[in-house]
Amino acid sequence: MTIKTIFLDRDGVINKEVNYLHKIEDFEFIDEVFETCFYLKNLGFEIIVVTNQSGISRGYYSENDFHVINNWMISQFNENNINILDVFFCPHSNESNCECRKPKPGMLINAKNKHNINMQESWMIGDSERDITAAYLAGITNTILVRSGHKINEKNSKAKFYLNSIKEIRNLVKP
Ligand SMILES: [Mg+2]
Ligand SMILES: [Zn+2]
Repeated sequence: MTIKTIFLDRDGVINKEVNYLHKIEDFEFIDEVFETCFYLKNLGFEIIVVTNQSGISRGYYSENDFHVINNWMISQFNENNINILDVFFCPHSNESNCECRKPKPGMLINAKNKHNINMQESWMIGDSERDITAAYLAGITNTILVRSGHKINEKNSKAKFYLNSIKEIRNLVKP
C-alpha cells in the first residue's frame, strides 16, 4: 500500500520567512495554515515537512535549537487536530555537497522510501525554486510555488502552479 503526501517546505510556506529562524517567539504561522492542512488531511493526504536548515552547520543555531522549535511547531499542529507524519531537515550548507540540501532530492527520496509514498499522487509546496527542483528530481510533478515567502521568479520557474499562499491550495487540490 502506498500513501499520497503533501510535502511542505517550512520557512515561507508554514511560517513567515525569517532569516535563520531559530526562536519560537519569531515563528509566525502563515494565515490559515491549520485550516488548509486539516482540509488536505480530510482528502486523504499525509503531511511531511522538508526543510533546509543550513543555519545549523553555519553555527547560527544548534541542532537542538532546531528540534525545540520543530517540536513546538508539531505540537501547534496537534492542537489543531493535524498530525504531521514526518519532518526531514538538512543541517548542511551549500559547500558541504550533501545529498539532502534542496535542490537535491535526498530528503524527498528518503521520505518516499521510509513511508512508501506514491510521488505521482503527491504534491510539493515551496516558496523557492530549490523546492520545485528537488520535487521534480524526486518524481513529483504536482508542484506549487507560493508567493508568501522568498521573492520568486515566475518567468524562470519550473513550477506547475503559483499561489499567493498555502490557503489557496483548495482551488487546486479538490476531492
Ligand atoms: Mg522556504
Ligand atoms: Zn544535507
